[in-house]
Amino acid sequence: MEQYDLAVIGSGPGGYVAAIRSAQLGYKTLLIEKYDTLGGTCTNVGCIPTKALLDSTHHYYDAVNKFQTHGIDLESVKLNFEQMYKRKTDVVLKNTQGLDYLMKKNKITCMQGTASFIDNSTLEITAGDGGISVIKADQYIIATGSKPASVPGIEIDKKRIITSTEALSLQEQPKSMIIIGGGVIGVEMASIFNRIGTQVTILEYAGELIANMDHDLGKNLKKILIKEGIQIHLQKSVYKAENFGNSAKVWFKDSNGQEQELEAEYVLVAVGRKANTQNLGLENTEVQLNPKGMIVVNEELQTSVPNIYAVGDVIGGAMLAHKAEEEAVFVVESINGQKPHIHYNRIPSVVYTWPEVSSVGYTEEELKQKGLEYTVGTFPFSANARARAGMDTEGFVKVLADPKYGELLGVHIIGARAADLIAQAVVGLEYEVTADDMSRISYAHPTYAEVLKESYTIASGRPSINI
Ligand code: FAD
Ligand code: NAD
Repeated sequence: MEQYDLAVIGSGPGGYVAAIRSAQLGYKTLLIEKYDTLGGTCTNVGCIPTKALLDSTHHYYDAVNKFQTHGIDLESVKLNFEQMYKRKTDVVLKNTQGLDYLMKKNKITCMQGTASFIDNSTLEITAGDGGISVIKADQYIIATGSKPASVPGIEIDKKRIITSTEALSLQEQPKSMIIIGGGVIGVEMASIFNRIGTQVTILEYAGELIANMDHDLGKNLKKILIKEGIQIHLQKSVYKAENFGNSAKVWFKDSNGQEQELEAEYVLVAVGRKANTQNLGLENTEVQLNPKGMIVVNEELQTSVPNIYAVGDVIGGAMLAHKAEEEAVFVVESINGQKPHIHYNRIPSVVYTWPEVSSVGYTEEELKQKGLEYTVGTFPFSANARARAGMDTEGFVKVLADPKYGELLGVHIIGARAADLIAQAVVGLEYEVTADDMSRISYAHPTYAEVLKESYTIASGRPSINI
């Protein structure tokens, strides 16, 4: 029986990063993945293909709606849906090939198969061809990720009632689509399809879109998406969906309990994701699950079995690729006797709509709930020279800071390039810099980042020069 220092189950951002860090530290490492390609949800059906399609559809949207104003007259703009999807597939392939290369480079053994614990220290791996291997490792990391959840009463048939996964391999452009859930997947998928002419309707249970973020972001995003043609209905609870062959129908209630129905070519269910723990043989171990089916870990990310750790979506928290990566490095370096740290409150979130939305630290709602005092500094992109030059004037930055010492408490952005701008705010929060300090460093002109400078200035109690 082959013996390893560390065996990692699942090859998503949690798994492949853990395997590489483990090999870098000199451990004999095994990475097990049930699918044929490495990369997990993120690379195959998550972060990467959605961003490829968001970028393609953004270009198309601008060509149709903005180029003329820039003085670029195109004879005709035609959408080639097949090519758009083919490019997305090529981008995914480049990334999965990149992971194959990294595994070889780091001399990591990769096994294709479904891993299942026989006991606390033995794993059985069943390959696609039915072949079975049994291995032992000193330490295990479970990084089996998550899969789409649904609503009780709604069966995802993958034909007319689909999830983001099926939406990424459609054969032709949908004419109409109802999206259940106005969270991150809901608004990113709505953007992709609306930009190329699909009639999109979002039905969201909460009172805001992207309701886990600062509510001012969701409010602003809603206005922008409605202007772009997406229909958005908040406070709608969808309880049933049915496939009618060439279309699908949903039934939902509004906040007064009034029942309504809606029909479209596709219904896309985006109501959250659930931990992937089936067929892992956890019943043969002492690993505990919480009532939501997620693996319970302590602060060291250790399960109830000391030599079995778990990271990423399977333990819950923010279901983000970079959160899984941080946890992977944290666990391997802890096993190695190092003293790494993770500040969960300083992990940024990004929504890749256009404009993009990003956030780090506390939201205003959280500060109110905690009874903490704060100052607010907001500044609109419409007053920024670079944004006007680029025709990207929607959105704002909102900085929340401690009124006494000026420490940054939260930074929330909706605006062009928000995904990249947030990195600077993360540095500010991580090193407990004050809003005043952040406003007194030099920002190149003209840049979108100057909207941050203005917001830090206002949050620190001084007036902006530019508004
Ligand atoms: P996963 O990536 O889910 O990987 C788990 C792997 O384990 C899978 O490959 C699975 O096949 C394998 N596995 C499961 N069980 C077994 C078993 N028993 N044996 C062997 N292998 C097994 N996050 C971001 O940060 N940015 C984004 O832009 C973003 N976009 C997203 C878009 C979509 C449409 C979706 C669905 C998600 C997106 N996410 C994004 C979330 C991100 O994909 C996840 O947070 C991330 O993939 C979690 O990584 P993980 O390693 O925990 O699990
Ligand atoms: P989510 O939790 O962000 O949003 C789900 C939404 O569905 C919620 O707003 C909820 O109120 C709504 N909902 C639930 N039941 C409903 C019902 N019956 N009727 C109407 N609305 C209902 O989940 P998601 O959008 O599915 O995304 C799953 C995970 O994937 C998230 O945790 C997210 O972090 C991750 N993800 C991240 C990115 C990114 O980082 N850019 C992109 C996509 C996905």
